[in-house]
Amino acid sequence: MIDLLASPITELYGIGEERARDMAALGIVSIRDLLEHFPSRYEDYRVRDLTEVKHDERVTLVGTVYGEPSVRFYGKRKSRISIKLVIDRVVVSAVWFNQMYVKNQLSPGKEVVVTGKWDKHKLQITVSEMTEKDSPREKKRTDLVPVYPLGAGVNLLFLRKTIQRALDKYKSQIPEILPEELVQKYRLLPRREAIEAIHFPQDAEEGKQARRRLMFEELFLFQLKMQAFRRMTRQQTEGVSQQLPMEEVREFVRQLPFPLTGAQKRVVKEILDDMQAPYAMNRLLQGDVGSGKTVVAAIGLYATVKAGFQGALMVPTEILAEQHMDSLQAMLEPQGLQVALLTGSVTGKRRREILDALQMGQIDILVGTHALIQDDVFFKNLGLVITDEQHRFGVEQRRVLRNKGLSPDVLFMTATPIPRTLAITAFGDMDVSTIDEMPAGRKPIETSWAKHEQFHTVLERLRVELKHGRQAYVICPLIEESEKLDVQNAIDVHAQLSVYFKEYQVGLMHGRLPSKEKDAVMQDFASAKTNILVSTTVVEVGVNVPNATYMVIYDAERFGLAQLHQLRGRVGRGADQSYCVLIADPKSEVGKERMRVMCETNDGFELSQRDLELRGPGDFFGTKQSGLPDFKVADLLSDYKALEVARQEAAVMVNSDVFWKEEKYGWLRQYLRTQGILEGTVLD
Ligand code: ADP
Ligand code: MG
Repeated sequence: MIDLLASPITELYGIGEERARDMAALGIVSIRDLLEHFPSRYEDYRVRDLTEVKHDERVTLVGTVYGEPSVRFYGKRKSRISIKLVIDRVVVSAVWFNQMYVKNQLSPGKEVVVTGKWDKHKLQITVSEMTEKDSPREKKRTDLVPVYPLGAGVNLLFLRKTIQRALDKYKSQIPEILPEELVQKYRLLPRREAIEAIHFPQDAEEGKQARRRLMFEELFLFQLKMQAFRRMTRQQTEGVSQQLPMEEVREFVRQLPFPLTGAQKRVVKEILDDMQAPYAMNRLLQGDVGSGKTVVAAIGLYATVKAGFQGALMVPTEILAEQHMDSLQAMLEPQGLQVALLTGSVTGKRRREILDALQMGQIDILVGTHALIQDDVFFKNLGLVITDEQHRFGVEQRRVLRNKGLSPDVLFMTATPIPRTLAITAFGDMDVSTIDEMPAGRKPIETSWAKHEQFHTVLERLRVELKHGRQAYVICPLIEESEKLDVQNAIDVHAQLSVYFKEYQVGLMHGRLPSKEKDAVMQDFASAKTNILVSTTVVEVGVNVPNATYMVIYDAERFGLAQLHQLRGRVGRGADQSYCVLIADPKSEVGKERMRVMCETNDGFELSQRDLELRGPGDFFGTKQSGLPDFKVADLLSDYKALEVARQEAAVMVNSDVFWKEEKYGWLRQYLRTQGILEGTVLD
């Protein structure tokens, strides 16, 4: 069948070579491109009620001309016409600048439709467009008139006219691409009608339905691609189907000092199921700070070792590596597992020994920083790799990791809660497990916000905690452009506080310290030799000192909400009530709102959702490549429910046999092929 929509736009009346070049600059080459060049917004010509219009708003009103127009000339060829209009028994004035020709149309008693800017105080509309009520022109105009992204040589009127022509000629060629069952189930407009209506809606409701249909289609196609991609990678990776001794694993869980939360049980099952399945696991585990991810990791590692494999845990910093080493050792060595640590500071003979033992299979679990994926590190039989704080590892590092063994199962853990809409969009090809429940008995951290001028009061409050034998963190910001300045900042704060709290010990931690010294500083704080730890954000992740109950964060407005939440997670780790004070003088309303949000909620997922709403999806992931697609119609913030539905429907579809066979899904299969997903590789 000939695809007429693929015809060049020069097929249309009025488009020659030159016009075609101008349009191509906007990405419009074929008729299809033109029809899918959607309006960015609409001019709204709905007639408004005087009582509801706002100051400075562009509005359309209907009124009756009352009296004669008054005309004034000024300057060179400048004129102003004004007249009284009666609208709902209210007299308002309408003015025109430099449009002398309207004078003759303004005879008393005539009903006119005027569009322009409304001045609430003067009860006056400055008219930019006028039509006579019930004139052919007025009747032809719809409520909403499209406004498009434009370019050189392509103006609005031309584009409207051209799109209308294309619709007249080619509308009947627009195929339905969504399966009939989805169109019915979600009461979507047929594609043909939706495309016409998004350009020229008869009324606001029709415009809304058109957008809804095209938004759903866009999200569905995106999710279909992600789900098909996931299915394809699963079938292509020759993962190991690990034979886990489930009874032993259950026994290990039973002897832990606490029962797992419901959420922990659920994610453990998801992970172990993946490990037993014949494909390589590619799973993201997200859970708020303190939700208990480490024990979940330990269970996975225990299981892989009991199935005859080795495990690896990779973390971003040495401090964190050591902490994980300690907690894993405590849980796993009594079970007879060999756990070893490999970081940049393990060198020489010790390093050689570890590498040999690893290759011979004498080490069961290796914990470390990226030192763990260097060229000379070889595992005997790597079954499971876990990375903590995955956003700090690049794609390349993940690939190197995967190539270390026989396609190990990979689990990415993150304590940065990613709002679900973003997670299933940016990581759509991954499986996501979420721990959304805290262990019982945690006291929520009390967070407050203070101005710099209240700093003294904050310090006195801190002194009370110290008197009760508690410890505190004071966090100074670290801004990437100038680590040097920030370190200096931390040194200064440390000096000040050392004087202020003469009778206490104040420690100092920052990224420029040699790692031996860092260890010593952490050790002193963990053993309560120091009472206060002044630190840059290097203590952001993982650090666990339950006796620390007070945290002060300097210049809190310079941090992202997710990061503040991470930092705050360093306190509230013991049984006592903990506090976090944000010192900040934000200037903007958004800045203030962000501080308030921090004080209101302790729930990382809610915070990240609010952060997303305040900053928008683009900013959420920072300036780095976000991996988020550029949607034409859909909006990740407002259309998240549809995204969820689209994902479910897409998953069901790609995993059903009929989808890959039946005629009616032909268009979608063709679409997947254009996206690099080959039916042959998906069908086994
Ligand atoms: P995360 O890594 O997710 O921030 P951790 O794994 O460090 O959290 O756990 C935080 C603390 O909670 C640890 O002291 C851990 O022993 C404890 N913990 C974990 N799971 C439970 C549970 N189910 N019940 C009680 N305490 C738990
Ligand atoms: Mg952790």
